[in-house]
Amino acid sequence: MRIIIIGPPGSGKGTQAKKLMQRLGIPHISSGDMLREAIAKGTPLGKKAAAYMKKGDLVPDDLVIEMIIQRLSQPDAKNGFIMDGFPRTLPQAEALDKAFRQFHIKIDCVLHFDVPDEEIVTRNCARRIDPATGVIYNLRFDPPPKAIASRLIQRVDDTEEAMKTRLTKYHSETRAVLPFYEKQKLVRKINGRGSFEDVQKRILKTLGIGSA
Ligand code: AMP
Repeated sequence: MRIIIIGPPGSGKGTQAKKLMQRLGIPHISSGDMLREAIAKGTPLGKKAAAYMKKGDLVPDDLVIEMIIQRLSQPDAKNGFIMDGFPRTLPQAEALDKAFRQFHIKIDCVLHFDVPDEEIVTRNCARRIDPATGVIYNLRFDPPPKAIASRLIQRVDDTEEAMKTRLTKYHSETRAVLPFYEKQKLVRKINGRGSFEDVQKRILKTLGIGSA
C-alpha cells in the first residue's frame, strides 16, 4: 500500500504512521525525522535545514524533494510506504507525482488528518520525546512514567512561537496540496480528535483493514 498522510503539525501523523508501519510491514518515510537525523549527524543537508526548522519555517523545496526521491528509490520502499510530512507544498506534490509517473507507481490514498488549531497548539506545547526510545508522550493526554520524566526532551520547534509559524505555513502552503489529490479522488478525511486508539480505528476502517 502507498499512503500519504497530510495534517497539521502535531496532529498525530507520526505516531499513527509508526503503528501502521508495524501493522502493514511497510516503511514509514517521515521527512521531519529524516531532516532531524541529518541535523544530528551534521550532514550538509542538516546544516542547511537546521535554521529553517528551528523557526518552524519550511525547508526549501529542492532540498526536501531530492531527499525524498532518493529515499523512495531504496529497495524497502518498492512494495509500499507511509509518507508523513511530505509533500508539504504544491511544487513538492508535483515533483512527487512526476517521479511516480516515471516509475509507474500509483498512490492508494491520501489520509487528511483533521484537527482544529486550538487543539494543535495545546497538544504540541505539551509534547515530549524520550530520546532513549523515540517514544512520544504528551504531558496532558499521555503522560510519561515518572521514572523517565526527567530525561524527556521538547522539540526545538514545539515552542509557542515556532508553532504559530508552523500552523501558518500549514494553512498557507500545505492545505493547497489537498485539492491536487482531491482531483485524483485520493483524499480520505480522518477525524484526528480523540484518543490514539480511536483515531487508529478510524484509519484502519478507512483503509479497509480490520482492527488488531
Ligand atoms: P515534522 O516532523 O513533519 O513536523 O517536520 C518538522 C520540520 O521539518 C518542519 O517544521 C519543517 O521545518 C521541516 N520539514 C519537514 N518536512 C518538510 C517538507 N516536506 N518540506 C519542508 N520542510 C519540511
